[in-house]
This record gives sequence, C-alpha cells and structure tokens, in this order.
Amino acid sequence: MTTTATKTDVIVIGGGPSGSATATLLAQKGLKVQLFEREHFPRFHIGESLIPYTYNVIERLNLLPKMKASHFTKKYSVQFVSEHGRLSEPFYFTEHENHERSQTWQVRRSEFDHMLLNNARDHGVEVFEGARVIEVLFDGDKAVGVRVKIEEGPEQEIFSDVVVDASGQSSLIIDRLNLREWDPVLKKAAVWTYWKGAYRDEGKNSGATMVLQTAGKKGWFWYIPLHDDIVSVGVVASYDYLFQNRASKDLETIYFEEVARCPGLQPRIANATRCDIFRAQKEYSYRAKQAAGNGWVLVGDAFGFLDPLYSSGVLLALTSAAMAADSIGEALAAKDPSEARLRSWEALYIRGMDRMRRLVCAFYDGLNFGKLVRKHPDRKGLITDVLIGNLFHDGVDELWPLIENLDKEESLDAKPAVATAV
Ligand SMILES: Cc1cc2nc3c(=O)[nH]c(=O)nc-3n(C[C@H](O)[C@H](O)[C@H](O)COP(=O)(O)OP(=O)(O)OC[C@H]3O[C@@H](n4cnc5c(N)ncnc54)[C@H](O)[C@@H]3O)c2cc1C
Repeated sequence: MTTTATKTDVIVIGGGPSGSATATLLAQKGLKVQLFEREHFPRFHIGESLIPYTYNVIERLNLLPKMKASHFTKKYSVQFVSEHGRLSEPFYFTEHENHERSQTWQVRRSEFDHMLLNNARDHGVEVFEGARVIEVLFDGDKAVGVRVKIEEGPEQEIFSDVVVDASGQSSLIIDRLNLREWDPVLKKAAVWTYWKGAYRDEGKNSGATMVLQTAGKKGWFWYIPLHDDIVSVGVVASYDYLFQNRASKDLETIYFEEVARCPGLQPRIANATRCDIFRAQKEYSYRAKQAAGNGWVLVGDAFGFLDPLYSSGVLLALTSAAMAADSIGEALAAKDPSEARLRSWEALYIRGMDRMRRLVCAFYDGLNFGKLVRKHPDRKGLITDVLIGNLFHDGVDELWPLIENLDKEESLDAKPAVATAV
C-alpha cells in the first residue's frame, strides 16, 4: 500500500506490542488510526517471556482465543537459582490467584508481534510496513503529524490530532525533545543465543522461566523454554563488566566465560545444540521526563525501558498502551488533545513501573528470595504480585519494609543443587 489520506485521527509510530495495542484499542473506539512500522513483519525481537497480567490487555485486544490456540509454551511459574546452583521454591502464579491469567506464555516475538499487528489490521487500523517515520512534525509545542517514507516512495507528510510514539528504543520524541533520563543504577547489557534440546523440567515446570545467578552475583542468565524444543538463554550483567576489561570482546567467548561461572546452567545445556547466532544488546534503563505533551503520547519502550530481570517489558508496553488509549479516546471525545488530558494516566503508570524497578534493584542488591519467603511465608503473595505484574495498587508497597529489614548475608535455602537434579 503506498497511498494514504493526509489527515487522520491518530498516527502510531511502530508496530511492536505497544504500538499495535494502542492502535487496536483506539480503532475499537471508532477512531481512524494509521500505524507506520519501518520493518516488514515477522521480524526478530528480543523479549520472549510474558507475565500473567498481560492477560488483561490481550483480552481487550480480543486475542485470547488465538493465544490459547497457539503453540506458544505455557508458563506457570518463575524460579530463581543461586550462584551455587541451588533452587528457590518456584513462584507458581496459580497458587497466588485462582484465575486463568495465572497461566501465561513464552513467545517467539516475531510470531507474537505479527499476531498483534495483524490484529490491529483486523480491527480497522491502516497499517503500513516498510514505512519509516523520519520525524514528528510540530507546530510550536504541538505535535501535528509525521514525515514518513513508505517503501521506495517519496517522503510524505501526514497529519493527525494525536501522534503516538511507540518506536521502542528508537524513542523518536524523547530524542527530539531531549526528554531522556538515564537510570543512575541499571546500566546493563545482554548476550544471548538459542539452544535446541536443552533440559526441560517435567509437567507444570516445563515452561518456567528460570533466573540463574552467576558466580559472585556478577550477573544472571535467563532460561526461557520456547516451542519447537528451543530454549532462549542469555546473560545479563553490567555493561562494563561484560564488555570492558576482557581479553576478548567476541560474543561467543564472553557467553561461554559466563556459562562457566553459572553451575546451575551448565547441566541444562550440556547436551543441547546451539541453533542461532550470538546476539547482544546494551540495555541501559531510562525513562522520559513526561509521558505526553500537546498532541503527542509515548508508550512502551518509547517512554521508558526497565531492566528485563522480571520480564516486565511487554506487560509495561501493553499496559501503557491501554492507559494511553483510554486517555487519548477521552481527549479526542472532548476535542482537547492537550498535555493535561493526555498525561492523565502517567502518575499511576509510573507508580507501577517504580514498584517493578524497586524489586529489580533489590535483586541486584543481593535480595535472597528464599530467605524472604521463609521469614514471611504469609507475605509471599506480595512478591508474586510484582512478579505477575499486578503492580498498579498500593497494597504491594507493604513489601518494601520487609525487604529492607532482611539480613542479606544468610545463605540460600537448602533445596538440592540443580546439578544433581538434572
Ligand atoms: C535483553 C532483553 C531481554 C528482554 N526480555 C524480555 C522478556 O523476557 N519479557 C518481556 O516482556 N520483555 C523483555 N524485554 C523488553 C521488551 O523487549 C520490550 O520492553 C518490548 O519489546 C517493548 O515493546 P514496544 O512495542 O514498546 O517496542 P518494540 O517492541 O521495540 O517495537 C518498536 C517498533 O517500532 C519500530 N520503529 C522504530 N523506529 C521506527 C520508525 N522511525 N518508524 C517506524 N517504525 C519504527 C521498530 O521496528 C519496532 O518494530 C527484554 C529486553 C531486552 C533488551
């Protein structure tokens, strides 16, 4: 498709989860929406583990039947493995909440994102792939449209009442308006690849995400079982640790040096075959100074990126999309897409994001989950609330004094080492 109306209600930049979801929810409200995505889908993307509260937005998108019928791995829990290979108790989401959302999924993002983008089309969104937004157009401080290049065609200017920036870490508006605030602490990077035939636990645990610490708690591996017998396995550590002061900066060497520091992981991939290249990404956390202005809104990573420790990225992308879509709908119904109206969701969203960030920082500060649960078995639900993404209520805040009072030095609980369990 190469022609388009030059004025629409809402323009969305980017067809990842936040862009597709915002566009779909706005189209459901009867608004005319055009979405521009620079790639052709399916395209590779990292971020494969969902958490339970993504359910709520997936339901609003009318995608639950497709997700239930999909071949994506079912995920019921998350489990932590110490630097010595000892397992914490699994955090089973179903123990916490008797709701079908307590089963979530591990997804290949190429397939999941494609499903979301096609779903936007099915809901009436005009989707353009191979369409790179070059800049957001402003009239004074008000966003009025975009300049876009679709395929090999000429650059075009297209106008709208609201521009939604869902361009992920490209963050077009953050850069244009100089809004980025880097997180002072979370300056990480990741190196990962994919394995075929790696170890899987039995039954309900077979789709669990594992978070395995490396020696000296320098970093951690994610272990995410996908469909077709593939497991995504990546290491996260501070950028400086991973990429500075090493004899070799070769990704394969760095990866296997970290595998050697992770006794919990070694037996899991010992009999597996690597089936993809090594990939790396710098993942400094950041956030915009504001989530919206006159005629513009930021969603997902285009607003802020948070360390992937608890797999919160897609949850945050979908939740910000839903909150932003509701506020855009109300603003346009009132014919007032002003900063005040478009920011109406920001404070609640930031409180939720901050809660996730606080538990991320507690982990990097040495929080011992096993010990916390042993000391406060009746409060295990508070941690699970954060892990499932039930972040947007004040009850979660009872967790912080418990963590602050915990002695960080005690050794991990006495479950058998994974090395003997596998
Ligand atoms: C190492 C790592 C591991 C992660 N693990 C997880 C995990 O397990 N679970 C989880 O939930 N999250 C995870 N995340 C986070 C997750 O990847 C992101 O939070 C999520 O993809 C954000 O979705 P989004 O729609 O905001 O952005 P994206 O998914 O990045 O989508 C943005 C889209 O915008 C398009 N775009 C960019 N610029 C333009 C332009 N100029 N014009 C048109 N289109 C444009 C891009 O092509 C892209 O398709 C991880 C992240 C990293 C770095």
